[in-house]
Amino acid sequence: MIALVTGAGGFIGSHLAELLLQLGAHVRCIDALIGPSARRDQQARLDELQDRGALVIRGNLNELDLSEALSDVTHIFHLAALPGVQPSWQRHNFAHYASNNMVATTRLLEAVATSCPQLIKFVFASSSSVYGTSAKLPTAETDPTRPISPYGITKLAGEQLCQAFGKASDLPIVIARLFTVYGPRQRPDMAFSRFIDAVATGQAIHMNGDGTQTRDFTFVADTVRGLVAAGISGRPGQTYNIATGTSTSLLEVLTVLEMKLGRPANVTLSPCAKGDPVATLADTSLATHELGFSAECGIEEGLDRQIALSSSGAIVS
Ligand code: NAD
Repeated sequence: MIALVTGAGGFIGSHLAELLLQLGAHVRCIDALIGPSARRDQQARLDELQDRGALVIRGNLNELDLSEALSDVTHIFHLAALPGVQPSWQRHNFAHYASNNMVATTRLLEAVATSCPQLIKFVFASSSSVYGTSAKLPTAETDPTRPISPYGITKLAGEQLCQAFGKASDLPIVIARLFTVYGPRQRPDMAFSRFIDAVATGQAIHMNGDGTQTRDFTFVADTVRGLVAAGISGRPGQTYNIATGTSTSLLEVLTVLEMKLGRPANVTLSPCAKGDPVATLADTSLATHELGFSAECGIEEGLDRQIALSSSGAIVS
């Protein structure tokens, strides 16, 4: 496998590139060092991947000459995007989301259609946010997609661009819909990172909603195994939920964190954030049957592993 991972300096992309290297693949990484993560963290992850043998290209998909990077690639895992629901509502921010999530995806697909003769699979990292407030839980891949945030709309557009190019240029496209991912290196804007830091340091947690909202939280090692399984066994044109098939509320997560960190959480409630669904829960049967994938890590073990590798966790222990 000669794999290209876009967004390899990010949270999920860095874990994926590491797994591919462990599996013996030749790995190429592209990253623009943008988005919510600290640039020094992205830089350090890319340096580490380079030390382990990956070829690292620092630059934006919208600007790079992609033909050389793609020439002999067999598998593409396209994770580069601006993530996050809330910042996508900020005034004047949609142009950045559109540019990095939609235009960049199109530019990559255009290059793949002409410069990637050995391509076996192109996996697009999509999101549960394409479902919006799903009327049916657990939600299956065939259920309606009605995103309720600008971010979700760019991810659905990304999926549809992939499918359109797939049909027009006969590309082996697979869509992987990821559900809220957590674990070591989680983005600093995401709930668990913020909660762990706040509980460990005694600071207030600003929680949107009353904490009863539930998510299909997926540990990052499971997510990247699912992405690799989609790259190996995914059927071209098919979409797969990559998740656990179980759900947990934010209040339950806080209770576990209080217990593990040995301190109470100081929570202040704010109104529900716009664009956040009340519940997400994946029907994972298609990924189980066709990819042989099922999540292995439960929330307690996953939180232990995230705490152990977070800076605050180190302080508390
Ligand atoms: P992240 O911000 O940590 O990583 C994304 C990386 O992509 C960043 O390092 C950034 O520099 C890079 N990037 C963005 N636009 C680029 C461009 N135009 N050219 C080159 N590099 C670019 O985010 P993440 O949480 O690791 O998410 C990775 C992917 O998974 C995204 O596509 C996101 O939409 C999707 N996803 C994430 C979650 C989650 O819970 N984290 C859930 C569902 C889907």
